[in-house]
Amino acid sequence: MKVAVFTTKSYDKEFLNEANTQFQHELTYFEPHLDLLTAQLAAGSPAVCVFVNDTLNREVLAKLSEGGTRLVALRCAGFNNVDLCACDELGMTVVRVPAYSPYAVAEHTIGLMLALNRKIHRAYNRVREGNFSLEGLIGFDLHGKTVGIVGTGTIGVIVAQILKGFGCRLLAYDVYQNPECQALGVQYVSFEDLLKESDILTLHCPLTPQTHHLINTQAIGKMKPGVMILNTSRGGVIDTKAVIEGLKSGKIGYLGMDVYEEESELFFEDLSSCVIQDDLFMRLLTFPNVLITAHQGFFTKNALENIAQTTLQNISDIETGRSCPNIVKAEHHYKAACQTKT
Ligand code: NAD
Repeated sequence: MKVAVFTTKSYDKEFLNEANTQFQHELTYFEPHLDLLTAQLAAGSPAVCVFVNDTLNREVLAKLSEGGTRLVALRCAGFNNVDLCACDELGMTVVRVPAYSPYAVAEHTIGLMLALNRKIHRAYNRVREGNFSLEGLIGFDLHGKTVGIVGTGTIGVIVAQILKGFGCRLLAYDVYQNPECQALGVQYVSFEDLLKESDILTLHCPLTPQTHHLINTQAIGKMKPGVMILNTSRGGVIDTKAVIEGLKSGKIGYLGMDVYEEESELFFEDLSSCVIQDDLFMRLLTFPNVLITAHQGFFTKNALENIAQTTLQNISDIETGRSCPNIVKAEHHYKAACQTKT
């Protein structure tokens, strides 16, 4: 199938081209994000292949549809950037890669947790400058600490497995209780109890209308003083202004983020010679107890191979009319939202 691939980086090309030797799709690579301006690049392509920060709102989808696009192939798990109701109305199919390497994201989360706790990011800079002082680098044992996991799906359960090995007490909040987590001894509690009891809070739920700004001023108010918050899910789950206030007051002791609610303007680009205009993001960077990575949780060789393979397989399945297990259906996720809109 003819596929317009947006937000292409060198690594996307490398892994997609390699996997495509098996599928033989006609891939055209575009560096820009998909948005209303760039949508015309897809004219004549029955499929677009997109990533987390491409815009697939109603206007963009309508423009794609005018150009003959019928399939949106996400090369990621999250689909919060796609207006599924509009896709339904326009007769467009959406496919995704539900699990490419949950280990990649779970392990990155633990990396942020360890680095923040033991201040490895600060120690690295000190030692390079010949400063071997330990002042201010004191950490705590993870063993025996209570970790609250929000969202115990594919990634959350692996985080639980790893933390069990560290000897942490594990609590979880989810709308669905995962038997795999229960078997590990994870205790499901209310969101409020999770906030009250956790020394570390780690977010692994999708971004939906229900989870948007789940971590807000009210939630932060209920947390333990000095709590560590980790977000490798989606930026919008955290209210950035609220966490900045929490950091300033000392209520939040550590913040590790791999995602940011306005990341589409920043992440995946080299902006080192630019004046960054996002004042909230720049404020976050001033805290010594904040560690930010630019949405690299997924970024392992294994994950990139799986993403390329599943994305191209999804496209082939739809092209040949085979059943595709990775179709995202509006009615499964946002039925209520669709009904409100239409
Ligand atoms: P998943 O669908 O397997 O699990 C998500 C879990 O969240 C499910 O158990 C679900 O029941 C739960 N959930 C849904 N709504 C909830 C709510 N309102 N409150 C509490 N829990 C709720 O997803 P996953 O593959 O484990 O991915 C988790 C998150 O990680 C997603 O947001 C995804 O977008 C993100 N992600 C980030 C990266 C990265 O590179 N940083 C890579 C992949 C996925």
